[in-house]
Amino acid sequence: MKRVDWGQFRVNSEAIALLKTLPRYRNTPLRSVFSRARVFATLVWARLFKIDRPIFVVLVTNNHCDLKCTYCYGDYGHRKGYIDYTTGQLMKMVDELWDLGTRLLTIHGGEAMLRKDIIEVLNYCKLKGFYVSFNTNGLTGARRATTSTAARETSRPRSARSRRAPPPAFPP
Ligand code: SF4
Repeated sequence: MKRVDWGQFRVNSEAIALLKTLPRYRNTPLRSVFSRARVFATLVWARLFKIDRPIFVVLVTNNHCDLKCTYCYGDYGHRKGYIDYTTGQLMKMVDELWDLGTRLLTIHGGEAMLRKDIIEVLNYCKLKGFYVSFNTNGLTGARRATTSTAARETSRPRSARSRRAPPPAFPP
């Protein structure tokens, strides 16, 4: 992938606009196996040759959460006055981590789904070659999915909507 100078972007929207021009990563079982195998091979290689590399990194993307769990290690639901990384700063870190030898990236928050650019961030990390795991409490993702489904539904012609079968009752 062509190297991007992330420092050139003054506002998040410019960096996000560039990220949106990138192709969408399409996972396949083969790609998934390759990606896991590469992490494992990197671990073995580092251990065998006693190479110090941050192969596995937890990247904390933001300082906020939409829950206030009492057991939260970072008290993210109550944090105030923290400034999150810009998209450019975060992407620069992702590039640097790849160069340092990181191959397994866990994207964390706070609640990372609260970042408006998170889908583009994840896509970029996958295109870069990381094996990515993602931590979320699921609330924002569910809200986004509901909103986009509702938007799609209201944009359908009324006749098409009325033909749709009602959702099954839950629990049955
Ligand atoms: S969902 Fe996670 S980050 Fe959010 S308050 Fe609970 S433990 Fe903390």
